[in-house]
Amino acid sequence: MNNDDIKWHLLNESQVYAFQVGRGTHPRDLSVKAGKIFIGGKKKQLIAGPCAVEDAKTFFKVVGKLRDLGFHLIRANLFKFRTLPTNFQGLGRDGLEILAEAKKRFGVSLVSEVMSEEHIELLSEVADVYQVGARSMMNTALLKRLGKSGKPVLLKRMFAATVGEFLAAAEYIAREGNRNIILCERGVRSFDPWMRFALDVPGIALLRKLSPLPVIADLSHSLGRTDICAPVAQAAMSAGACGVMVEVHNDPGKAASDAAQQMNPAQFRRFVKNIGLGN
Ligand code: PEP
Ligand code: MN
Repeated sequence: MNNDDIKWHLLNESQVYAFQVGRGTHPRDLSVKAGKIFIGGKKKQLIAGPCAVEDAKTFFKVVGKLRDLGFHLIRANLFKFRTLPTNFQGLGRDGLEILAEAKKRFGVSLVSEVMSEEHIELLSEVADVYQVGARSMMNTALLKRLGKSGKPVLLKRMFAATVGEFLAAAEYIAREGNRNIILCERGVRSFDPWMRFALDVPGIALLRKLSPLPVIADLSHSLGRTDICAPVAQAAMSAGACGVMVEVHNDPGKAASDAAQQMNPAQFRRFVKNIGLGN
């Protein structure tokens, strides 16, 4: 056993504080330029869009509506983690042209998930922000490669990771020279079947205390439902979140994935009005 093995359980708050992604190194809040907007600035931000890009027509419909409401940072996933191999896995590289066209037609910026190092290259022309899914949070080869890319990374917290482990994952990216990291709290495993995961609101406050990186709360994947997103968004932002992420689909009933948690455009309009982010 080497020293690291003996001491792993001693990862403590002061060590994390001294990380490159810790407040000890950078006391003031950091903001990340994500496409045309800043996440972590004065204004609370919103990332919205479908669970996955399904086809050009469906995607353009929702992107147009989001853009018209003043939201320019759009979820645009081509690669999906699914529990079952028989579930829709995303369009993969066949969707690249759709993303390029959406940017051209609507002038939006895109957040798109990478599951492997190969995806980083594939998406380099169309993604403004690379998303690391919860299940990839501990893929350190992927994190190191993203660190070298220099592009903003939306890093999601694995649903069984501690706050310390989450920040250690961010540290992997930062140590390769990239501090353009947006932390995304998306809920931890819980026992209540009425909510998909438990959004860790105190965890957001602790992340903000320990790290200057901006934090976004993913309401859709944590709650797994649309009806309580507004009060939970307020709670997350009160705890220090710099904004929220929600899934929006033009016709959620027909969605290829996560149908129950995607808002339709009317629900989305009400939601943004309720949380004071609408125009
Ligand atoms: C997603 O945001 O598309 C997603 C699948 O979320 P998570 O990785 O948090 O489960
Ligand atoms: Mn989803």
